[in-house]
Parts: sequence; C-alpha cells; structure tokens
Amino acid sequence: MRALCWQGTGKVDVETVPDPEIIDQRDAILRVTSTAICGSDLHLYDGYIPTMQKGDILGHEFMGEVVEVGREVKNLTQGDRVVSAFSISCGNCFHCRRELWALCENSNPNWRMLATMFGFPGAALFGYSHLYGGYAGGQAEYVRVPFADIGLLPVPEDLDDEKVLFLSDVFPTGYMAAENCGIQSGDIVAIWGMGPVGQMAAVSALLLGADRVIAIDRFPERLRMAEEHSGAYAVNYEETDDLVEFLKELTGGRGPDSAIEAVGMEAHSTGPGGIYDRVKQTVRLETGRPTALRQAIQACRPGGTVSIPGVFGGVIDKMPMGAAFAKGLTFKMGQTHMPRYMRPLLDRIVQGQLDPSFIITHRLPLEQAPEAYKVFREKDDECIKVVLNPGP
Ligand code: NAD
Ligand code: ZN
Ligand code: ZN
Repeated sequence: MRALCWQGTGKVDVETVPDPEIIDQRDAILRVTSTAICGSDLHLYDGYIPTMQKGDILGHEFMGEVVEVGREVKNLTQGDRVVSAFSISCGNCFHCRRELWALCENSNPNWRMLATMFGFPGAALFGYSHLYGGYAGGQAEYVRVPFADIGLLPVPEDLDDEKVLFLSDVFPTGYMAAENCGIQSGDIVAIWGMGPVGQMAAVSALLLGADRVIAIDRFPERLRMAEEHSGAYAVNYEETDDLVEFLKELTGGRGPDSAIEAVGMEAHSTGPGGIYDRVKQTVRLETGRPTALRQAIQACRPGGTVSIPGVFGGVIDKMPMGAAFAKGLTFKMGQTHMPRYMRPLLDRIVQGQLDPSFIITHRLPLEQAPEAYKVFREKDDECIKVVLNPGP
C-alpha cells in the first residue's frame, strides 16, 4: 500500500510499504477514505517529539471502511463505515474503566519510555513516535486499529466523510477544552490559537452556553473564520501593544472568565520573552515556548479556569504561578478522552447543531501529502486544515 512516511526533521515521503494485518483478535483493518493533517503532526515534522524512526507512518486523524475484523471485535463487521479515535485505549484498565481513556495503561507497549519521562505510562497514539507506542498511522491506504471495539465509531451512511472526519480528534479536543472551562451562561471565553482546535473550542464554547468568544491569533484568515463561524471578537496579537491589558479592557477590567490555550509548545513570540525561550530551548534547558500559556494565566479573571488542549512536553520556564495562585485559578488540561465525546458529538452533527467541515481549506490526494505538509506548516495559501484522500 501507499503511505506517508517520516524521513527526518522537515521531510516526509509517500512510499510503498507492506499492508497491515490483523495481529490481535481485537484489531480491525480499515481502508482509509479520508485523513487529515493536524497541528500535532507538526510537532513530529519539526522534530520536537523524540523516538521517531525513518519510515514511520504518520497520521492520527482518519476514517474509513472496515475490511477485516479480529474474532473478538463483536460490534463491527466488514463494510462498516467508521471514524477512529486518535488515541488507543483498551477499555479494561484502571483508567479506561473511569473513562479516562487518554490515560490507558495497556495500549502502549513502550510505556516504560513514557513512564521514565513523565512518571506514568499513557495511552498509545496512532502515528505518533515510538514513545507513544510506535503504531503505524492513518495517512495511508490501510491502517490497523488495535482495540477496535473501543476506538472506532460507526457513522451513518448519509453523512459525508468531511462532516464526521473531525470526530477523530479536533472536534472532541475543542469540545473537551470548552467543557473543561466549566462555562456558565454569560461567560466570556478567550482562546489563544485559532487553528482547527481553537475553532472547534470556539463553536463548542457557544454550544455550552458562553456569551462571547474572544479569538486570538496573528493570521487574518484564521481570525476571519472565527468571526464568521463563532461570532468571535477577533484580536490580532501582533497589532496589540499589551494583549493582557487589552483583554482586561474588553472584559470590564476583570479578564475573561476562562482562557483556552490552543497553541501548545511551539508558540510564536517576538518579544524578549520569546528570545529567552528560544535560547533556553536551543541549549535544551526548556522544551517549549509557553508564550500563550503565560498570557492566558495573566489575563484570566480571578476564580477563572485556564484550559489547555495545546500540547506540552518536558519543562517550561517562567510560569506566572504567583498570579495563578493569587487569583485562585483552576487548571484543566491533557490529551482528549476520545470515546467519551465521539458519540455525543456525532449526535450533535446528526441533529444539525454543527458541521465541523467549515475548517477545511485544502483537499489533496495522499500522493501530494509532502507538499501539503509544507503548505500547512508555513500556513501558505491561507491553509488551516488539510484533508488527504488515499483513494484512487
Ligand atoms: P495549529 O498549528 O493549526 O494552530 C495553532 C495556532 O496557534 C496557529 O493559528 C498559530 O498562529 C497560533 N499561535 C501561535 N502562537 C500564538 C500565540 N503566541 N498567541 C496566539 N496564537 C498563537 O494547530 P491545531 O491543530 O489547531 O492544534 C493546536 C494545539 O492543540 C497543538 O498544540 C496541538 O498539538 C494540540 N492538540 C491537542 C490535542 C489534545 O488531545 N489535547 C489534540 C489535538 C491537537
Ligand atoms: Zn490531531
Ligand atoms: Zn486501558
């Protein structure tokens, strides 16, 4: 089959590789019909995630048709159309039984590496380094899905791929980020980063009762999308002298009720803080540039919540913990507990409350994935979300 393989920092290729096979009786094999490139893939592309190996197949946002199932997968049959969770959960361990699916203790065969880094084993992810299990991803013609009875959600035939594809990651991720804010009616939610996750967090905040969303980014097309689809008040931080003060001014001097950090460890920054982070990162004394997170903490109103879907790893510097403590902030974060959200959000799509496909700006065949990664990384051509089609 053809698959998109990581070759080294900044280099991916489409190659012919062996077809996947059932290895465990809870596996399923999918013929991938649509797959997307995610902001999280850029952390791999840019070389921030260790333990990638030449030839690893990327991709954790995918859907397709079931072509084969193991004997123990009782809820799916050949021909079912399904969307996959980006993470892999066993359904039986301590955390899975508590619906903390992202913390599954059984799916990652390389759990020791994660436990050494972070102190605990965590769920495996598709196409996301050997640290996260070394599973082949779904930017390919076919993919093996372990624990398929848990991670695959059947979708109705009458909904196009594009309407349901984002149940694989960014819709649940944006929704959980908004849910983590504990939104009350009338709340104002500020969101840093208007990529797909930020866009989904914005529409979800409205679904959960927020009065207004403030969208923060520097790319006009991303801000425009948030204005159009969430009625957001758009703030271009590059055109704002003091973002934290500006956000306070916008919210009666108090600050937004919740602050969502949908940027992660590669935040863009130009000021002295940004130079400091870059130097420390270069000499490996810091593993991320937490510009947006610092601002979120500083801007959030006393008693508010800072919700962090943006991915961080390792250690970051100069966290304004004094401000966080003095203001009695609540912090919520982490990888999305996918199976908790996929079905209820599919119901919302079926009921017509939302169509997440508005984030798609580029549609390309899998063979053009290397160009797609470049365009997506550089945000050329107003690129926000790329869908790849492996089919003929
Ligand atoms: P993306 O790269 O498309 O979007 C990030 C956005 O942040 C960009 O629009 C960028 O311009 C903006 N940005 C950069 N620096 C900023 C700053 N200082 N202030 C405000 N905005 C800034 O990525 P995405 O696909 O939307 O993902 C966003 C984050 O969510 C990434 O870190 C990704 O890894 C993470 N993520 C987490 C989960 C999870 O389970 N928690 C799942 C999916 C993605
Ligand atoms: Zn993703
Ligand atoms: Zn588990």
